[in-house]
Amino acid sequence: MSYVVLARKYRPRSFAEMVGQDAVVRALTHALEQQRLHHAYLFTGTRGIGKTTVSRILAKSLNCTGADGSGGITATPCGVCAACTEIDGDRYIDYIELDAASNRGIDEIRDLLERAAYKPSIGRFKVFMIDEAHQLTKESFNALLKTLEEPPEYLKFVLATTDPEKMLPTVLSRCLQFNLRPMAPELVQQHLAQVLKAECVTHDDASLRLLGRAARGSMRDGLSLTDQAIAFGGGRLDVEGVRAMLGSVDRSHAANFVRALAARDGRALLGGVDALRERGLSAAGALEEMTRLLQQMAIEQAVPGALPDDEPDTAVARELAALLPTDETQLLYSLALHGRQELNLAPDPHAGLTMILLRALAFAPAGSEPTRLSQTIPAAMAPKPAAQAPAAVAAQPARVAPTPARSQTAVREPEPPSWIDEPPDEIETAGGRAAVAPLARPVSAPVAAPPPASPPPEAPVLRPTPLGDVWAGLVARLEQGQRVAALARELALQSELVEQQAGPPPLWRLRVERESLRTAALRDKLTAALADELGLPALRLELEDGSVQDTPARRIVAERQRRQQEAEQIIHADPLVLQMLAEFKTARIVPGSIKPH
Ligand SMILES: [Zn+2]
Repeated sequence: MSYVVLARKYRPRSFAEMVGQDAVVRALTHALEQQRLHHAYLFTGTRGIGKTTVSRILAKSLNCTGADGSGGITATPCGVCAACTEIDGDRYIDYIELDAASNRGIDEIRDLLERAAYKPSIGRFKVFMIDEAHQLTKESFNALLKTLEEPPEYLKFVLATTDPEKMLPTVLSRCLQFNLRPMAPELVQQHLAQVLKAECVTHDDASLRLLGRAARGSMRDGLSLTDQAIAFGGGRLDVEGVRAMLGSVDRSHAANFVRALAARDGRALLGGVDALRERGLSAAGALEEMTRLLQQMAIEQAVPGALPDDEPDTAVARELAALLPTDETQLLYSLALHGRQELNLAPDPHAGLTMILLRALAFAPAGSEPTRLSQTIPAAMAPKPAAQAPAAVAAQPARVAPTPARSQTAVREPEPPSWIDEPPDEIETAGGRAAVAPLARPVSAPVAAPPPASPPPEAPVLRPTPLGDVWAGLVARLEQGQRVAALARELALQSELVEQQAGPPPLWRLRVERESLRTAALRDKLTAALADELGLPALRLELEDGSVQDTPARRIVAERQRRQQEAEQIIHADPLVLQMLAEFKTARIVPGSIKPH
């Protein structure tokens, strides 16, 4: 015997079997019992919710002849007479279903309406069901309207649509309208439990909970997913298998993201996405679970104790609800919800998820405590070159920015770069100060403040010189080859090449502002490194005092500032960010939280 899919096998055949549509069922039952029949019905609601099923039961109610052939119109069709069995079997001559999505033109409707001219062949009523009726062309609607205005006694119309707003008002006004509701996940879950019991399929509550949610209000989808899950699990259901099939993600991942956002811990966010990717877990599933979690947190915050105690997810939602202010929960919910659409557009869903989480990190409602500011600097997101560059000293804002406001949740500071082996006063370079400056902007900065047009006043100005490119390129090579370290490296980065005289041996003059770097020992180290890099038998360096305009360090800082501004401009112009700022009046972009990659 061939396998009959569950959605078909368990399709309700009577009003009593319909799940979750009590209002519609009650109204139709009363109307049938009292023989108050309308000539046109309109069923609205999302897909897979039972519109066609109701239409078929209605057609059976109108045409049932009862088991002994003597029955009349009834709210409880017998299920065994010719009308009942043939409508169930999709072969009753007087019941016609037309899908307007594929038959929307005037010719199809004319053809249908021509048939309306003839009395029913065997039944009491002809029932015409037009599914997705909103897709009919205007011409078709108008043709239909004429028949709807003066229908023959024996004709009943059932229109079904997922989008009633697209129906002509003149059509709507001639129909008795019923709105079928999306089913609550618990209801789908209960029904699935009954079906699986009848099918003798072993299952657990957690799998059914997942399937109930994944059905998104549609019992048909719930049953189809259950079919797939049974096939996936080799005849049985268990939560890991169902989770894998649905691409859904254990709530602990979502909870970790929310925790990291509450702690402004960018490093933890990135680590979380990596963990998902490594384990082959779906980014969309994680985002969806996060949306659900935030929604539950919002409920807990608004009505403490409202979440059911016996739900396994309640405990974590309560714990996290205490970590965030309500407006921030709402904001994160919106960002996660909008992010779901965006995820489909991202070339790589995990990269898409990273962007969504970073965007969430960049937001904080007004009134968040200022300590957050110093916590919004996820070291992992600092520009990559900073890792080897000397101005990278600046990647450690803690050395310049005040630290007492830091809480335990703050991002762990990065380890000092290996070349920093001197007392702190040696590393407090002008470059360091400059790169920290954007972070020092006041918390009360206006919401969508334009990115700063020029570097902060204390930033050293870069004025490119003729030899600047050559020198910066050479120093970069020294760095890559790890030929200089510690203060010799600092000397290279803080100096400006002002003259090159041909040799032999060649003589180069370097201008260096800081006296502490103009030592013979450092000069000799740098000379040796340069000669080695260039393959020269000898080289002479002269260090001179003077104010510099173009050092490798300044170039690095300038490049970092350029990329920072670029990143800020992208975020400030991001349509979603603008929308969020408009929707959430208390939201603002946390200064300094935007970091270029
Ligand atoms: Zn019957």
